[in-house]
Amino acid sequence: MSDFVYSANPGRVIFGSGTISRLGEEADRLGVKRIVVLSTPEQEEQAGAIAVNLGARTVGLFAGAQMHTPTDVTQNAMDLIASRDADAVVSIGGGSTTGLGKAIAFRTDLPQIVVPTTYAGSEATPILGETEAGKKVTKSDPRILPEVIIYDVDLTLTLPVGMSVTSGVNAIAHAAEALYAREANPVISMMAEEGISAIARALPLIQANPSDLAARSDALYGAWLCGVCLGSVGMALHHKLCHTLGGMFGLPHASMHTIILPYALAYNAHAAPQAMQRIARAINQERAPLGLFDLTRKLGGQIALKDIGMPAEGIEQAVDEILAKPYWNPEALARGPLIRLLTAAYSGELPA
Ligand code: NAD
Repeated sequence: MSDFVYSANPGRVIFGSGTISRLGEEADRLGVKRIVVLSTPEQEEQAGAIAVNLGARTVGLFAGAQMHTPTDVTQNAMDLIASRDADAVVSIGGGSTTGLGKAIAFRTDLPQIVVPTTYAGSEATPILGETEAGKKVTKSDPRILPEVIIYDVDLTLTLPVGMSVTSGVNAIAHAAEALYAREANPVISMMAEEGISAIARALPLIQANPSDLAARSDALYGAWLCGVCLGSVGMALHHKLCHTLGGMFGLPHASMHTIILPYALAYNAHAAPQAMQRIARAINQERAPLGLFDLTRKLGGQIALKDIGMPAEGIEQAVDEILAKPYWNPEALARGPLIRLLTAAYSGELPA
């Protein structure tokens, strides 16, 4: 066993079916009385139901969360928080809503209860990525980590199959990079392999039957494990690529992760052979990059950046930005290979 450092993020997790009914109890446990409920415009109805469920504890609802946490949206939500003298936020939705709740918590230190409805995993991390003027800036702070997560599998049943696939592979990306992280440790690696495996076996079942509660439960459990990985060790090239492309071109988060992951793994395959073996074992394939590429293809996920709005002329610009402020990565980052990576991902070639 090699030396390692392990630090656990504090947080309370309630997992199951119908667990949303415990929201009021959890709010009381935190001692909060003036809650603002957050969601995207698409989930305003669900947020409204939660607001009703919380009764007199609700003082407002803000249904304006957007992907990549734009700071002007956060400011609008902050105005509501201040005008209602809120003492907590409840975020219902995917990473976009969670991101807004975290941005508020970073500015106010208000406690957060998160009710995740995708597999993004943001709820389990002290990380916030905010976008201003086309640049995504990431910060980590204990104030950002949500106090309570209520995973209610029932609320994920409405997640369309396409989004379940991309969101699931987004989660796998967190665990995959955790396996070759500079701070990798045996506890997180164990969670990473288990998380990848739970999601990889759940996705084909969800594709066949989106209402399969057992498969949905496996996927959500895997998403939590993968989120813990993301929040516990540093990420590398894959996440740097996605943050850069997301900030520069506003590409859809989960689809972009799904497309990039096989190429980022191929880039790192020689430098991180043990991680590749564990990923391959978890997805029950011979090779990690090709195996994930095939899994995505079979599940009907998009495989080319050109199909999700990436401009061809943006490749060099993105590589310049990656190299200007690189993340640590097992394989050295170099301009030529990175351009080749993005060119292959742009057109959806086999990852090699
Ligand atoms: P999202 O939150 O933007 O959700 C996509 C769409 O799906 C939204 O319209 C949402 O309302 C809808 N939706 C969510 N759950 C649904 C459900 N169960 N049924 C029907 N519709 C549903 O997408 P996402 O991929 O979850 O999150 C992406 C964002 O999260 C990005 O901004 C990304 O940067 C951030 N993120 C942050 C971290 C972190 O640790 N900081 C981790 C992962 C993702």
